[in-house]
Amino acid sequence: MLVHAAVYEGKAKRVRIFDDGLAEIEFKDDVTAGNGLKHAVFVGKGVLCCRMSELLLAYLQHSGTPTHFLRRSSLSTMTVRAVQIIPLEVVVRFEVAGSLEKRTGLPYRTPCVPPVYELYFKRDDLGDPLLNEHHVRLLNLATTDELRTIRELALSSATKLHALLQRAQLALIDLKFEIGRTDSSLLLADEISPDTCRLRDVVTGQVLDKDVFRRDLAELLPTYQEVLRRLEQVPELQSLDRSMSRSGKES
Ligand code: UDP
Repeated sequence: MLVHAAVYEGKAKRVRIFDDGLAEIEFKDDVTAGNGLKHAVFVGKGVLCCRMSELLLAYLQHSGTPTHFLRRSSLSTMTVRAVQIIPLEVVVRFEVAGSLEKRTGLPYRTPCVPPVYELYFKRDDLGDPLLNEHHVRLLNLATTDELRTIRELALSSATKLHALLQRAQLALIDLKFEIGRTDSSLLLADEISPDTCRLRDVVTGQVLDKDVFRRDLAELLPTYQEVLRRLEQVPELQSLDRSMSRSGKES
């Protein structure tokens, strides 16, 4: 019988770890910004983020990137391999926005060539500060070999997603990954959704991610529904989805 070993409650997700090496991530309807200062609940948001994460994590997994994703187990939960999350936010940027705009003074949407890779310490009490790799070593958060793997995982995954999203008429400005450790390897973990990346319409530049909530630009639910609608029209994701629902029925 499966036993809950632990339950972690985050701002937007609830994670249940089981004793068989699996975990379940439940996507909540909560959305927060500014380190939790701004908070709201949009009924249906968890289902949307779970579905988008399923498609994008499965796409990466299928293309050879190791991820924690196993399957979506209900509309708002996915079953994943249990990992120890490294307390880093791993950010890749293709264009300047958000905190990079403030830190550098460069204009919004200046292209980042090559993409900019950043690490932030996941510590709410310190305000999630930017770290370099020496700081990560100092804090003993990852080894030098792991740092190399994290960098390769993040840059290759971000590049694949950038190309995929382009086919959904979505410009990927930047995104945040989390990395999980198992006994033997590092895996891309957590979620990939408009909560964790910046997306713009490729033609109009319309904001299609959590920035609509951060900056009160538009309604969040219709924005996320539009992103999902576009993803579900990408042929590679459609065929991946068909094969996932076939194997779901067989098992
Ligand atoms: N991001 C995230 N969680 C965080 C901080 C950032 O998912 O706690 C994402 C954010 O949505 C964006 C990217 O990481 O896609 C870069 O964020 P930035 O450093 O510009 O910070 P922001 O200005 O969004 O706080």
